[in-house]
Amino acid sequence: MKNNKQLRHWLDAMALNHPLVIAGPCSAETEDQVLKIAHQLKDTDATVLRAGIWKPRTRPGNFEGVGALGLKWLQRAKEETGMLTTTEVANANHVDLAMKHDIDILWIGARTTVSPFIVQEIADALRGTDKPVLVKNPVNPDLALWLGAVERFYHADVKNLGVIHRGFSTYEKTRYRNNPEWQIPIDLQNKFPDLPLILDPSHIAGRRDIIFDLCQTALDLNYDGLMVETHFDPDNAWSDAKQQIKPETLDQMTVDLRIRKEEGDAVEFKNKLATARTKIDVVDHQLLEILGKRMRISDEIGSLKKKNNVAILQTKRWNEILGKMILQGEEQNLSEEFILKIFKAIHQESINHQKQVINT
Ligand code: PEP
Ligand code: MN
Repeated sequence: MKNNKQLRHWLDAMALNHPLVIAGPCSAETEDQVLKIAHQLKDTDATVLRAGIWKPRTRPGNFEGVGALGLKWLQRAKEETGMLTTTEVANANHVDLAMKHDIDILWIGARTTVSPFIVQEIADALRGTDKPVLVKNPVNPDLALWLGAVERFYHADVKNLGVIHRGFSTYEKTRYRNNPEWQIPIDLQNKFPDLPLILDPSHIAGRRDIIFDLCQTALDLNYDGLMVETHFDPDNAWSDAKQQIKPETLDQMTVDLRIRKEEGDAVEFKNKLATARTKIDVVDHQLLEILGKRMRISDEIGSLKKKNNVAILQTKRWNEILGKMILQGEEQNLSEEFILKIFKAIHQESINHQKQVINT
């Protein structure tokens, strides 16, 4: 896949903000709701109004969207406010209807990106179009699947492509609704630096209080835009009530976010350094999480040893681990000395944990 600079040009041609801010409700609920939110957003940094019309719900029985009727509401919002519009399309018929109603940007939802058949159907329906298409990451943490979907659009000669990072589902409950797994979009950015990358903090967070921090991390990683679910009465939204924020909150947020503009050599150096440091912060955080996980497993072993009256220190097992890690470390270009230090420290912490388990 070649680089994709066109969407950037399109954004410039439309004189849209950098970063691009897309905002609006999870779902279009009523015409009044869509219009009211659009009017509240029109004087903020948001230049594109989002609203889901066809809502993919994980389980049946939840609000599944107002359907094609909502497209007229988006059209009217655009006439009244001058904002551009975007909605999710999940099959060729949606594409056809969205095109007829002059929706400006289409996005592909996370549950669609996982399905090569549907992605191909949508790509065929969009063949040759200039219409910008934003591909959300698949629900599962699989970079190849995400890229595969982008490639299907690219091969269908869809000219203005971008991607949206909305996080990845996990079985374990974490502080996020969908884990950000920042290393995946970072890898994608390294492979395709010209593919515009937009953060959807709302579906990552699943709650309001960490939206700002997620946006700041994305901007520090040089993301090109944000898509934030916004509603005048978030608590009573018909879908995703916990994660939507008010238009005025979004407005304040865009004032408070640090946005770095790349200009001049010294500034560029500082920006690159700050981006690399944010990447390091992401990895350090993962290291801590993984160490915490290791210690929790160690605690389990501690209680097994206690029940069975087995000694904490098992020298044979420990030497096996060290030998294996030294070999695997070499593959990662890590010296034997370093591996020994790190694993001795980890081992000591494990022993301390198990002592605590056994003595309580
Ligand atoms: C949405 O944007 O409202 C949505 C359904 O998103 P996702 O496909 O990321 O779950
Ligand atoms: Mn939503």
